[in-house]
Amino acid sequence: MIAALRLIEGGTAAAISASAGVLAYGVRVPSASLLAPSVFRGDVARPAIALTFDDGPSESTPALLEILDRSAARATFFQCGANVRRLPDIAREVAAAGHDIGNHTDTHPMLHFKSRDYIDREVAAAQETIERITGTRPRFFRAPYGVRWFGLGEVQRRHDLTGVMWTTLALDWKRPVQQVVARLMRGAANGAILCLHDGRVLQPRPDVRVMLEAVRAVLPKLMEQGFHFEKVTDILCPTKN
Ligand SMILES: [Zn+2]
Repeated sequence: MIAALRLIEGGTAAAISASAGVLAYGVRVPSASLLAPSVFRGDVARPAIALTFDDGPSESTPALLEILDRSAARATFFQCGANVRRLPDIAREVAAAGHDIGNHTDTHPMLHFKSRDYIDREVAAAQETIERITGTRPRFFRAPYGVRWFGLGEVQRRHDLTGVMWTTLALDWKRPVQQVVARLMRGAANGAILCLHDGRVLQPRPDVRVMLEAVRAVLPKLMEQGFHFEKVTDILCPTKN
């Protein structure tokens, strides 16, 4: 716990008691910045939502790009280096369509109990691959499974990355379409960051039909409510913690 407290920034250490509960909070809670500075929500003054897609690119990503285009939506894709090497043309297509590409590690490991050097190698390999193949160097990072660990904050700083969590997890990998649609509609708000998946970890040809159907259904409804869809970088404001 001492190590964790050393990592707290902004002089908030005194306000936080050293307990296992704090550690669990720092590792998993989207709004926590204990182990690595992260943003989890955008500007609440504007009706802009950030759609984010993790674990891609996959063979289904082009279908998603078409759906996004129909709503003039720009999104942020947190890609894994290994998937970018497997499907370089699709990764380039994402960048060419005007979306942002973030770093989601190279091979999608759970980061807890990993050394700082291990975390650094995972992040660095994804940075290198994404930049080499798409020509853009990621500025945002999303931890696999949302799990942050000791050393991640330093690794993010070294690579100039800002962590991005979410306001709503769509649970699109395990719930039926109607429930995913309902979660997204409930989660829609000014500055919301919605987390979906256009891949499934490193699986080739993942089944992401639920995500595609849900996004196809939800975007026109949200536009009717006055929302539009921006990249994370365009909706940001700092975390509260
Ligand atoms: Zn993931």
